[in-house]
Amino acid sequence: MSMCIGHVQCSPVTNHGNEVFGDLYANAIKYAQENPETLEAILTFDKAIIEGDIIMPSDRNAVDAVWPAVKGNVSVAFVIHPDLVYMTDRMLKAMDMVSEHACVSFHKLSTEPDYMLFYPSKGCASYVGYQGGEQKLYIGPMCNVGNVAHEILHALGFHHEHTRLDRNEHIQVIENNIQTGKHNNFNMKDGETFGIPYDTTSIMHYGGRYFSINGLPTIKLLKQSSKMGQRTHLTPQDMKRIRGLYQCGLYGL
Ligand SMILES: [Zn+2]
Repeated sequence: MSMCIGHVQCSPVTNHGNEVFGDLYANAIKYAQENPETLEAILTFDKAIIEGDIIMPSDRNAVDAVWPAVKGNVSVAFVIHPDLVYMTDRMLKAMDMVSEHACVSFHKLSTEPDYMLFYPSKGCASYVGYQGGEQKLYIGPMCNVGNVAHEILHALGFHHEHTRLDRNEHIQVIENNIQTGKHNNFNMKDGETFGIPYDTTSIMHYGGRYFSINGLPTIKLLKQSSKMGQRTHLTPQDMKRIRGLYQCGLYGL
């Protein structure tokens, strides 16, 4: 038995010691196809992924820094890699989603030193917060408009909603269904919430089967009436978060 996944992984399973590992790996890939934000962590070995689609900077710890304002306005310059031109519409729509209700906008790069570079990859991934200089957002063919918006929010400084310290009041993480070695994607971390209530419908919230080893839920909602994991729109709370971090004023809060 051997596994070939694109040009990334094409080696006999025996390299990993036994066939059980191979089956687990194949299952992990199978379920990850539904969640392109998890593909980067599973298929990519050339960069340090600390949480699903969050990349650890090579030269320093992850930061929560905001992009700098120029004359009171934050307008982030961007470049789309030539190999992603066919997906331009998705990226423009994603940037529109983010800028529509906040004082953060985007423009094509001219001579600015800091900019986002939409860069081709297998899954969708991003650094968290402003890094300075050229900052890559990794975009794969399966990343839809909502996935791209999710990565842009990482780049603007936002972490995953399900890692909030108050998450256990709203969700239950089911450890036994999480892929081996991927439990770090479900660690809680302290962070600024701006007093905004936990939002299971946030575009930054994981879906119920992210990093599932067996197709069963890795996260369950405590209230059956709520939903989670959507990648179609920013919720009112998502917009408030952007307005809070970028000090857009109280309008809309
Ligand atoms: Zn993410």
